[in-house]
Amino acid sequence: MADLSFMQAELDRLKSEGLYNSVRAIGSPQDAWIVVNGERVLNFCSNNYLGLANHPKVKKAAQDAIEKWGAGPAAVRSIAGTLELHLELEQRLAKFKGVEAALVTQSGFQANTSTIPPVVGKGDLIFSDRLNHASIIDGCRLSGATIIPFEHASAEDLEKQIKANAGKYGKALMITDGVFSMDGDIAPLPSLLEVCERHSVMTMVDDAHGEGVLGVGKGCVAHFQLEGRVDFEIGTLSKAFGAVGGVVAAKAPVIDYLKQKARPFLFSSAMTAADAAACLAGVDVIENDAGPVKKLWDNARYYQEKLRGLGLDTGLTQTPITPIMLGEADKAQAFSRALFEEGIFAMAIGFPTVAKGKARIRTMVSAAHSREDLDLALEKIAGVAKKHGVI
Ligand SMILES: *Cc1c(COP(=O)(O)O)cnc(C)c1O
Repeated sequence: MADLSFMQAELDRLKSEGLYNSVRAIGSPQDAWIVVNGERVLNFCSNNYLGLANHPKVKKAAQDAIEKWGAGPAAVRSIAGTLELHLELEQRLAKFKGVEAALVTQSGFQANTSTIPPVVGKGDLIFSDRLNHASIIDGCRLSGATIIPFEHASAEDLEKQIKANAGKYGKALMITDGVFSMDGDIAPLPSLLEVCERHSVMTMVDDAHGEGVLGVGKGCVAHFQLEGRVDFEIGTLSKAFGAVGGVVAAKAPVIDYLKQKARPFLFSSAMTAADAAACLAGVDVIENDAGPVKKLWDNARYYQEKLRGLGLDTGLTQTPITPIMLGEADKAQAFSRALFEEGIFAMAIGFPTVAKGKARIRTMVSAAHSREDLDLALEKIAGVAKKHGVI
């Protein structure tokens, strides 16, 4: 066998620098309360915005789909893996998003790697927000296009970069997250699109944290009333929708083109029937019941107002993603451990996920939380913050 000692050396380095990621095992369904390492704790870590991951209608739809369609897809979409159910979900999502067509992928990550490489390649340019998600970055790298980062959420810098590169490339594509997952701020879509339209740059928005949250659940494009102006809308079915999968929403010829070109569509097996059915049920719940989205926002406003009232810094958030800014990574880690001992599960996020000195606890509010849950969390957070000299 080859010498693999570099792996142990790297593991030792990660541990000594406090960057080693210990994965906790969950022993229950995703909900407001979950079992972690055998302990029942209040969950502030999941992307289960609307409580759909363990919703009775969503679970029942998945169970029924297994009875009707079986467990595994047994093929890629382009050979024998496309079920009528996938087409139904795609039509439903297109209607939900107010676009002509949609393509469902195995995950949000795959939605990015399905879309970016067929759209741009060598000799083309990508203008990418500096804080874009890792799956966007990987999709960009796979494409072979030249990646030009622009300052976070700055239409002004985007335009500067576009002008500086005028005439030096073939096609150009601007990509931004809709909602940024670590800070909870919303991309300034109207001004970004305006710049792109002026310079004939294609536009792509990854709305993984906007769907189910903004625009009465339809996402950030609906939030800004920009329907029909984004070339490629990416989404995930693994967060607010409560199952797992990804989606690309666009004009019909775009989706037709991606079905010929997207490598995860051609070379990786289809999303399972259970997931497709769960997603359909998730869309149903969001479309027919305004309750979960309203509760999510009521919870987020209540919780964030109280946190600020305690003197805590919730950063730039405009959504239910709620960072508690703490500064140094070791401080955030100690804070997270102390909270866990008090029965509150909230992750510390440090470098390299966020900049040095910007470490935080990232708390995720859900419609699954009750007011009592939030009050309990606030009481424990206040206690730990006092003990750690944060307030
Ligand atoms: C979570 C996330 C993804 C990945 O979605 P999965 O369905 O979990 O693969 C992609 N893009 C962004 C912006 C995300 O936040």
